[in-house]
Amino acid sequence: MSSLFPALADDPSDRIALRFGPRSLTYARLAAAAGGVGARLRDRGAGRVAVWATPSLETAVAVVGVLHAGAAAVPLNPKSGEKELAHILSDSAPALVLAAPGDELPEALGGLERIDVDALAVEGPVSATAPAPVDDEAPALVVYTSGTTGPPKGAVIPRRAVATTLDALADAWRWTGDDVLVHGLPLFHVHGLVLGILGPLRRGGSVRHLGRFSTEGVARELNSGATMLFGVPTMYHRIAEALPDEPELVKALAGARLLVSGSAALPVHDHERIAAATGRRVIERYGMTETLMNTAARADGEARPGTVGVPLPGVELRLVEEDGSLVTALDGESVGEIQVRGPNLFTEYLNRPDATAAAFTADGWFRTGDVAVRDPDGQVRIVGRKATDLIKSGGYKIGAGEIENALLEHPGVREAAVTGEPDADLGERIVAWVVPVDPQAPPGTAELADHVARRLAPHKRPRVVRHLDALPRNDMGKIMKRALPS
Ligand code: ATP
Ligand code: MG
Repeated sequence: MSSLFPALADDPSDRIALRFGPRSLTYARLAAAAGGVGARLRDRGAGRVAVWATPSLETAVAVVGVLHAGAAAVPLNPKSGEKELAHILSDSAPALVLAAPGDELPEALGGLERIDVDALAVEGPVSATAPAPVDDEAPALVVYTSGTTGPPKGAVIPRRAVATTLDALADAWRWTGDDVLVHGLPLFHVHGLVLGILGPLRRGGSVRHLGRFSTEGVARELNSGATMLFGVPTMYHRIAEALPDEPELVKALAGARLLVSGSAALPVHDHERIAAATGRRVIERYGMTETLMNTAARADGEARPGTVGVPLPGVELRLVEEDGSLVTALDGESVGEIQVRGPNLFTEYLNRPDATAAAFTADGWFRTGDVAVRDPDGQVRIVGRKATDLIKSGGYKIGAGEIENALLEHPGVREAAVTGEPDADLGERIVAWVVPVDPQAPPGTAELADHVARRLAPHKRPRVVRHLDALPRNDMGKIMKRALPS
């Protein structure tokens, strides 16, 4: 048994742990506030506790309080529709919900006991709130997957996985208590909550949350002492677009210790534009709700565009072909499904024994559903999701990602998504969904087919181009291919 946040007990100083806009908490105050929440939950004997996860101090205090009590937090997306909320509540059956005093909760939460979290409460000496003794295998979180490919599933994440993934990232990124993270992500997924809040707290460092992401906010924080930025590709896209007009942003990124992207593939075009303007390369890491983090580019390694680094310490990773044979070639070409094993893995999908069983091989490897190749130096290059991003056309297996990257390099293309659709001749034909820069003069099929054929190979050219006003994306900015019009 070990504490997830040693700094909460050890640190008597006035160091800032969390800052959300004008409000902040020192480690001592955080320990007191979270200890107060924890004590109330312990008195109640609560097992699973829902947290109304607005981007706020209260959410951070609530989750740390739940962990302090040895219970499991179920973060709820405040923007979820009633139907999704109702599903998550009936699936996870929390004992109560924690929210900030002013929060209005929707009807779906009506039947649930509510406890308000007072983040700025001073509940007495920290020593009075020692954490509950809990087993490392006990659940820390039940996090619902992003719902990119189907209805969200509740992944039961043990304390052991949280601790090991954060310590592995600390090793890869030389992440210490001196780091100050700029954060602009929501707090109900692994990226924003586990990496963005629990990560800095485990290191004894600090977080500055922007509330809402803005390039001005990123510039302001990185130019005033913050050292690292975690973001999703849509944020780095906005940064890439803003750099030519915002010299403060250029200075901010140029001076940052670490710029990290994850949750979806970072388009090569955005990576290159940021590198050209700032001299800094964004590094990528690859993870999932079910596995927390699997791979990451190292702080002292090469941040090659389109790659997500190497397996983190303790994580075993293999690529498996459809017939079950292992891909051993490091040729940047041979595709296989990523399977992982290690202490970073979840325990189960809540109430879904069949889905859990189907997700693991007999010898305990988790099937990620993502496909990848490996470069000669072992760096993993994600091709996409097995179900939607691997197109079988004319006898080739073609990854949607590299075609999307090529399309984004065309000056007339603002956003792009590539899918396969049945074709009598080819098996599947490549379809490009394109949001044009100028809707009055969108680039046509022949032009984009040519552009891709020249950059990649003729068999990778889209046969059909369809124009849209916007791509369907979820709250993490991920493209939801299943929501494209059929
Ligand atoms: P659902 O499982 O509900 O369909 P989801 O898979 O999007 O949704 P998450 O667990 O939040 O839910 O996301 C994990 C997925 O995100 C991975 O399986 C992978 O496809 C993608 N991903 C994460 N990081 C990267 C990255 N750096 N590059 C490419 N893809 C990534
Ligand atoms: Mg998934």
